[in-house]
Amino acid sequence: MATLQLSDLKKRYANGFVALHGIDLAVEDGELIVIVGPSGCGKSTLLRSLAGLESITSGELTINGRRVNELEPAARDIAMVFQNYALYPHMSVFNNMAYGLKNRGVPKADIRRRVNATAELLDLGALLERRPRQLSGGQRQRVAMGRAIIREPQVFLFDEPLSNLDAKLRVQMRLEIRRLQKRLKVTSVYVTHDQTEAMTLADRLVVMNGGRVEQCGTPMALYGRPATRFVAGFIGSPAMNFLPVTVHDECLRLPGGGELTLATGLDDGTELTLGVRPEHLVALDEGAVIPGEGALIQATVELVEPLGADTLTYARMAGLDELLVVRLHGEHAAGEGNVLRLWLSPERSHLFGDDDRRIEA
Ligand code: ATP
Repeated sequence: MATLQLSDLKKRYANGFVALHGIDLAVEDGELIVIVGPSGCGKSTLLRSLAGLESITSGELTINGRRVNELEPAARDIAMVFQNYALYPHMSVFNNMAYGLKNRGVPKADIRRRVNATAELLDLGALLERRPRQLSGGQRQRVAMGRAIIREPQVFLFDEPLSNLDAKLRVQMRLEIRRLQKRLKVTSVYVTHDQTEAMTLADRLVVMNGGRVEQCGTPMALYGRPATRFVAGFIGSPAMNFLPVTVHDECLRLPGGGELTLATGLDDGTELTLGVRPEHLVALDEGAVIPGEGALIQATVELVEPLGADTLTYARMAGLDELLVVRLHGEHAAGEGNVLRLWLSPERSHLFGDDDRRIEA
């Protein structure tokens, strides 16, 4: 049982650089929190501060209500799984997993029992005598997980644990981590810059940017109602399209002259950004009835990327500098040079003001 509370947590490095600008976050017992954000946003700094590998400049970190800011890493009852696995190369898998327990003077019979149980959990039973170099990347990652699990810590920290694995293995290990975490119910904080990994693993996602939390919530809440333009562009793949629009008479004037009925209550002439996801633009066949309230956009296909079930289509829209990205179902795939008639519904539109914050219409 462990809850984790971060209150106004700040980190200033020795050179004066502020990597964390006051992070507030409450992690519930058994919850898997995923921290996601671009390179340099402070994810590792945050995780290392939780582990005790970085000092906290100000603010408070508590585990089960007890302040741990000043506690040594070993005294925090936290286990960390690293990207590079950090296994001892000269030790067998058995000894890699047993090492921490031996150091703490756990009796030999207990160690054997715990290693065997953990090995079974992770399907490592047949590999216990091998050295790390005799293992595949996925197996090494499992040993690293085993070493964390065997300690029965209060909290797991994962620092991009899958980034050295190939695409297929990443998906497999992702599922395994999810399954294990649900089974063991250990409170976990997981850092990644891969937003698919973040979406699929997280009970709640924390999106960071520039040492601050942009938004925290369930993956679907962040996907459905991103609080800022940054989150809107970061969550979802391919990224959301952004169109400059102007308020006009309860409507939004789109680039190229179209209009979308959407009452914002803002003054005419106010400039906003309208976001729409590639999967939410609907391509209408010739002569098709417009499905409801919304706007029609015309765009000329410049590039097509078939993915199998879907086709990513990049199309030029008048008045927009960037290409519009549209995810079409396979059978609707359009060729280069075709003109798409795209329907945009107000329910699928996201609006952002000039401070990049979401505006509810
Ligand atoms: P990545 O995804 O690339 O690992 P990150 O989000 O984990 O990035 P951090 O490693 O936490 O980012 O770094 C956050 C910021 O702090 C970066 O601008 C980095 O240059 C800076 N930083 C990290 N370590 C130090 C240090 N020891 N001294 C000064 N600045 C540092």
